Amino acid sequence: MGILERGKALLWPERCILCGQVAAYGACCCPRCRRETPPLEGALQRSGLLVVAVWPYEDQVTSAVARFKFRGDKKAGRQMARQMAQAWAEQGRDFGADSLTFVPMPPERERQRGYNQARLLAQWAGEELNLPVLELLSREGVLMQHEMAASFRKKGGRPVFRPLPGAERKAAGRRILLVDDIVTTGGTVQVCAAQLQKAGAEAVAVLAAAAG
Ligand SMILES: [Zn+2]
Repeated sequence: MGILERGKALLWPERCILCGQVAAYGACCCPRCRRETPPLEGALQRSGLLVVAVWPYEDQVTSAVARFKFRGDKKAGRQMARQMAQAWAEQGRDFGADSLTFVPMPPERERQRGYNQARLLAQWAGEELNLPVLELLSREGVLMQHEMAASFRKKGGRPVFRPLPGAERKAAGRRILLVDDIVTTGGTVQVCAAQLQKAGAEAVAVLAAAAG
């Protein structure tokens, strides 16, 4: 480590993505989190889709995602995206992705929050993987995640995703990596993937920070 890096590490120590405690320079996580919440070892299948995620869906991970998602901790988000890109490079290579896209938020909600965490993760992971990020989908409604979960249960309904105008031109023949922060049942990414395929995508796989 050069003197500049050493100085920076002293002034702004690296924080563990998962718990926020000081971590070793260049490390994503502190030893305790590495032990208690080890990363997933292989890709998963959800709703017939290849899903690569860094961590299992556990409390420690969901609160880390929440710090980024609701409290705007962009540094944590960027580190998370770096881990996602690394997991993809190791486990998703055979898929041959040529571009990224992300699960959209309802526009009203994105305006309120000021950003869409899935869009940011896709942009940062795209930089790491040297792949373009395409904006392909729109989402209707302004329901919060928990309201959506409730409406899923009540009506068996799903949030409405549609290809944006011009998506067909951009998506045609592409092998697309769809980014979201957390994948649980895979319902959301399945609907998005179906829309991307309808728009002409050759194949869709999923990259997330956590998957259950
Ligand atoms: Zn930690």
